[in-house]
Amino acid sequence: MLSTVKKIVCPECGSEVIIDSEAVEVAKKKARFSGIYSLAYHHEDHVVLVYIDESGGIRGVEATPLFKSDKPLFLKFDIVPVPNPRDKMPSLNKLSNEELAVLSRCDGETSAREIAEALGMAYGRVKAILEKLYSSHYIKELREVVA
Ligand SMILES: [Zn+2]
Repeated sequence: MLSTVKKIVCPECGSEVIIDSEAVEVAKKKARFSGIYSLAYHHEDHVVLVYIDESGGIRGVEATPLFKSDKPLFLKFDIVPVPNPRDKMPSLNKLSNEELAVLSRCDGETSAREIAEALGMAYGRVKAILEKLYSSHYIKELREVVA
């Protein structure tokens, strides 16, 4: 069987990131929601985001600072974003990388807190992006759940 292991170099620290075939397969499945999925690799003080498309190709690599919260988040309610079907979604070209990273994590099951943790982003920032994505019709519903 053809190996789908991919190697990239972290744009921030220059270390090699190995993307195993399992991660690529997961990304390909998740990419069916928005056409693209971001794998996040936590390095010391930054996160490497690797954008994978539906066919398993790497669309982009990006490093962002890792947000570390001093105190744990005590949230009574969390939000689960439900993406619009692909054919009803506006063009992804209009989105910033950060917005794309958040959108690519929306699968109708993952909560805003989980997305923030996975991407190393502040919860408030993720929430603001989700609200923007909702008002511009990338997201169909922001479902409130008890955390
Ligand atoms: Zn790095």
